[in-house]
Amino acid sequence: MIKSRDKCGVFGIKSKSGVFDRIYYGLYALQHRGQESAGMAMCTDHIRVHKDMGLVTEVFNHIHLEGNIGIGHVRYSTTGGSKIENAQPLFIQYSGGNFAIAHNGNIINYAELRETLERRGSIFSTTSDTEMIAQLIAQEHTKLGDFVEGIKSAMNYLEGSYSLVILCDRKIIAVRDPHGFRPFVLGQSGEDYAVASESCALDCINMKLVRDIKPSEILVIGNCIESHFGPEKRTAHCMFEYVYFARPDSIINGKSVYEIRKNLGKTLAEEAPAKADRVIPVPDSGRTASIGYSRESKKTYGEGLMKNRYVGRTFIIPEQENREMEVKMKLNPIKSGIEGKSLVLVDDSLVRGTTMKQLIQIIKEANAKEVHVRISSPPIRYPCHYGIDMQTQTEFIASKKDIEGIRKEIGADSLAYISLEGLINAIGEPESELCLACLTGEYPIKRKEQTKLL
Ligand code: SF4
Repeated sequence: MIKSRDKCGVFGIKSKSGVFDRIYYGLYALQHRGQESAGMAMCTDHIRVHKDMGLVTEVFNHIHLEGNIGIGHVRYSTTGGSKIENAQPLFIQYSGGNFAIAHNGNIINYAELRETLERRGSIFSTTSDTEMIAQLIAQEHTKLGDFVEGIKSAMNYLEGSYSLVILCDRKIIAVRDPHGFRPFVLGQSGEDYAVASESCALDCINMKLVRDIKPSEILVIGNCIESHFGPEKRTAHCMFEYVYFARPDSIINGKSVYEIRKNLGKTLAEEAPAKADRVIPVPDSGRTASIGYSRESKKTYGEGLMKNRYVGRTFIIPEQENREMEVKMKLNPIKSGIEGKSLVLVDDSLVRGTTMKQLIQIIKEANAKEVHVRISSPPIRYPCHYGIDMQTQTEFIASKKDIEGIRKEIGADSLAYISLEGLINAIGEPESELCLACLTGEYPIKRKEQTKLL
């Protein structure tokens, strides 16, 4: 189970009427992508930004912004710390004008680019890669005299993942990185257009999903819609968006996340059957895959652990010995579904293995006969540089132990992961269009290929 320490969510909308409520609900639907801070930038005759630390409901309690065009952001930090200065959208003013920008992703050549921009005279007030992107676009715009050309030029230097929403000159500009790491979609209702990290944000404001924003696309939503393109690179959709990060009710890259997760469970049941009475999920991360596993294996599906939804983000018990209590506060066994039974316990991933170890202990204390763990992604062995908070190799149990070693460590009766081939088939995209770097160590962006900003 990867904790929700993932990247961010972005949203933008242009309408003939006020958009505050729709941005609010759009961000609310994207809250799973970041819970640290939330913000909006809205345009009337000038751009106004409101942002703060906290959830969307907390940041916009008693706040209303006027405007028919605006962007929004929910954040979990990747580059830059968790502090208000790094909350988004960012507003930037320069000799060529001003704009607000929000970003989902992570720029891997951030430090080099920032250093060069500082040498050229840019002054930074935050440590976020988003400000670096903004300064780079501003410099390129000033140099080339055209905003879209400035973005195109900036894209030649930026390496990493970025889905950007920019509010400028009464337009929304959506930019997706040339690899298309993070999902990004376009929605429509009559003459109103919106862009969002996931389609679930369009559903909740009654907008129709039109299509995905393409890798490398610069989509300008003004009086009309224009598409421009930056550099062409190998597509590399993040496989973890399908496995865990995106909401199951989202359609990303034209695929239902829910159906993919069920397929992952089905494949796992074919590849790794278990002698068991019933299939239970780790809530909520293993739920959809466990439905697929249960159907394919014809074993009863049931809930075995109950999640306490009211344990807040700040629920931290500091002492090491109280960690077990922390897990119990969050997930408590449903004894009637466990006692005397052999169980298949399904989750989406194992990172450190510590939570899984505690869950198995809790389940065994509730008198389960056997616990067979099945994981709907292959072992994670390498860090992610593209916006998911898995940064150091030492944190992965699978980079230190083989499968039998992991099984012993977590105390399971058996352990199996889906195969790489099974994962790719269940997703239904060609291997050449997926990022699988945290599984294989083969990164879509090679450091030596990066273009230097002179
Ligand atoms: S390294 Fe893994 S988590 Fe990161 S973008 Fe690639 S597939 Fe996604």
